[in-house]
Amino acid sequence: MPYFDYNATTPPAAAALQAARLVSEQAWHNPSSPYRTGAQAHILLELARENLATLLGAAPEEYVFTSGATEANNAVFAHFAKNSPANARAVVSAIEHPSVLEAAQYWFPHRVSLIPVNEQGVADLDSLRKLFRAGNVAVVSLLAANNETGVLQPWTEAAKICREQGVPFHCDATQWLGKLPPGGLADCDFFTGSAHKFGGLKGAGFLKINSRLGHFHGQRGGEQEHGHRAGTENLAGIHAMLAALAGVAPSLDSQTAEWGALREQFEESLKAAVPGVVIVGEKAPRLWNTVMLIVPQHDNLRWVAALDKRGFQISTGSACATGREGPSHVLAALGVDADAARRALRVSAGWGATAQEWSGLAAAFGEAATTLAAG
Ligand code: PMP
Repeated sequence: MPYFDYNATTPPAAAALQAARLVSEQAWHNPSSPYRTGAQAHILLELARENLATLLGAAPEEYVFTSGATEANNAVFAHFAKNSPANARAVVSAIEHPSVLEAAQYWFPHRVSLIPVNEQGVADLDSLRKLFRAGNVAVVSLLAANNETGVLQPWTEAAKICREQGVPFHCDATQWLGKLPPGGLADCDFFTGSAHKFGGLKGAGFLKINSRLGHFHGQRGGEQEHGHRAGTENLAGIHAMLAALAGVAPSLDSQTAEWGALREQFEESLKAAVPGVVIVGEKAPRLWNTVMLIVPQHDNLRWVAALDKRGFQISTGSACATGREGPSHVLAALGVDADAARRALRVSAGWGATAQEWSGLAAAFGEAATTLAAG
């Protein structure tokens, strides 16, 4: 069944399942236990940390394993709230995932400034520069690629501006990692990743920290992760994450242009099949796998159901926002009105999506349009 909701979660890669099984069977001991099998599990944990550093840059000790991106993002704001003056502010873009936006609002109540985006969904760095003029910024956070639109953000430039200002910079790279080469992510003071977005298992992720910015201490209750994060590590999930990342990494330099071309062909076929469809962020650089579109008629959930019946799984936007009242804050930030936002759909492909699957999806859109129009 063609699955086109990879930004929500990905099927686990075979290598990830194999790694998880091997570690669960043979290294299930607690990495903090004082006997030899515990020490072996500990060695495997540190080996995973070294492999992550080799794949993404930075030093192994700068990586803290977490339960995923939500925990990592929350921990960043908790850290800066605890270590900054009481009136310091957090600056985040208006199109962050709720795990950044709501964590910022929780830890910096009434002291969050938003970086606006243009109509293509790209963060406006002139506004970031202006926000610095008021001073007192504890941390800036800009995601690498938006989960709803796929629009790539100028995070390299934002990191540079923050460095010049001497302000810590965090990048939520959850949707970028595994889809594009890591580039200069290791130069960001903090960045976040999540295994289940690139073929790993749910419940594993990491935060890259800059330990020169004070001792980082996430959740309390133990001295695991070099004192940075309490809790027995999910060694099987961590090894599955590394296997998945190592599996996709070699194709990212050479194949993303080819995958992007398939997505563009789909967009052309879609425009022919559903006249009046609008592609959000069409003129901006986007992830090769993502298309956020606004259909001209009918509620998005009716389209999701009609396409599901035809065997295609797509979503209305962020899976984390499913069931929430009201339109997406991301589309609102782009200036999309609430009525159009109710007609928004997100297609997000996987690494193996074929030309045939993409054209099948475009054809299914055309059929769905006919069925929905017939009522
Ligand atoms: N940030 C972004 C940009 C995301 O897309 C997601 C997942 N939808 C998260 C954070 C949260 O990730 P996790 O499921 O690992 O908590």
